[in-house]
Amino acid sequence: MCDTCGCNITPGNEKLVEPGGHLHTTSHGTESVEVLKGLLDANDRAAQHNRTHFDRHGTLAINLMSSPGAGKTALLEATIDALGADTKIAVIEGDLATENDAARIRERGVTAIQIATGSACHLDAHMVHTALHELDLDGVDVLFIENVGNLVCPASFDLGQHLNVTLVSTPEGHDKPAKYPVMFRAADLVLISKSDLIDVLGDFDPAVAEGCVRDLASAAPVFRLSARSGDGMDIWLDWLAASRERRPDKTA
Ligand code: MG
Repeated sequence: MCDTCGCNITPGNEKLVEPGGHLHTTSHGTESVEVLKGLLDANDRAAQHNRTHFDRHGTLAINLMSSPGAGKTALLEATIDALGADTKIAVIEGDLATENDAARIRERGVTAIQIATGSACHLDAHMVHTALHELDLDGVDVLFIENVGNLVCPASFDLGQHLNVTLVSTPEGHDKPAKYPVMFRAADLVLISKSDLIDVLGDFDPAVAEGCVRDLASAAPVFRLSARSGDGMDIWLDWLAASRERRPDKTA
């Protein structure tokens, strides 16, 4: 995880380790473990703060994770189209650069806040907290947080979400859950996306992909769908509706 790739310090938390920040230290190399632990602890506190904010508004927060290009944004577009005005959705988009994905969501009349992480390969709770300053959650039923495309680091940072949904697209190969166990073990739901390509590609076996998930001792449902054709969207929307039924009540 991010202990080694050096991505723990992000635009969201860098002020904590800069001079004047409460995790700033000087020349003692042995302090690095303490700094890392402090950053993760600070992230968890910020995540809890975010979660309290979601709960207060009765908003279900879902963290969408996958590799780049697996179809997270396309799934959101299809979901928005399918739900129509009955469900109020908001979206936080995470990418290293551009507003491209937020623009796609806004074209559908849905509020979207883009987080440009710079060089950071994941969102953290501080970045989400900052985005929430721009986002009015009043009346929002579901907040989707589309994480940076990456099957490693995003799984290690709590954002305050209630549920994790992880996509594996058919062109990626059916053994991705075996290769990236931390990500798929964290998933509350696994979606096999781009299912319309299964017959075209001929080398993606959904049963193998689900078997890899079960080998992780995960009981998460595994659904296949295609945002392009619409196949399988109904079972995803049913899962979403059931998850909304279980969402926290407003507490204030
Ligand atoms: Mg995207």
